Amino acid sequence: MENKQRGASQEAKEVIRLENVGKEYLTKNGAVWALNEVSVEIPAHEFVVVRGPSGCGKTTLLLAVGGMLRPSVGKVWVDGVDLYAMSISERASFRADKIGFVFQMFHLIPYLSVWENVVMGLPSRKGGGLRAQAEEWLTRLGLSHRVGHKPSELSAGERQRTAVARALIKNPQLVLADEPTGNLDPENAHQVFQALSEYHRQGGMVLLVTHGAEAETYASRVVRLQKGRIVES
Ligand code: ADP
Repeated sequence: MENKQRGASQEAKEVIRLENVGKEYLTKNGAVWALNEVSVEIPAHEFVVVRGPSGCGKTTLLLAVGGMLRPSVGKVWVDGVDLYAMSISERASFRADKIGFVFQMFHLIPYLSVWENVVMGLPSRKGGGLRAQAEEWLTRLGLSHRVGHKPSELSAGERQRTAVARALIKNPQLVLADEPTGNLDPENAHQVFQALSEYHRQGGMVLLVTHGAEAETYASRVVRLQKGRIVES
């Protein structure tokens, strides 16, 4: 990919740019550098899979890109904006506007139905349009028969597809997914990857971290992480 010279102020095409990022956790047993000298530029519209063994820093990387964990050193830009130069409230607005999240543990609200979970966090709309919009997404994800169910009445795969619908309904520029198929059987994992792939084909960008090989089939780019360092990108 062409990489034109530019200043730190970024009129960049990269949606994600990390520059010399390091993250140190202080523990009772001393300091742990979960990320070390991580530099990478990822253009828009990629489906990036960050792969590495447990403990190599994948979640730390994802949290840093999501504006949820300030690096100890280095800078993170998303869509040309220096994430940690913003105030907390600016960062919260930026995240709400631009980023959708999918987590391994789904994080659905147990007291709300599937469609209510999907529209959580969306601005209200007159005339009940939110439910129709949720139903459209749920139908695309093969869940039209589960719209009114509670999460406890769903299989793990259905729960994760609900979480994917919740991430995609706001049409974010970037979806961050942390081991999204970690609790799913291969068939359900495939459905989740397919849904993210479809979103990618339609112009969306995905950053997915995983220890497993399966996601690589769907990736447009694979970044390998080992002991907090990028060893291949
Ligand atoms: P991965 O997602 O690849 O399993 P993590 O980013 O969760 O890796 O963790 C990377 C390293 O940082 C591990 O050694 C982990 O134990 C350590 N770590 C992660 N979070 C914390 C924390 N909050 N406090 C202390 N150490 C942490």
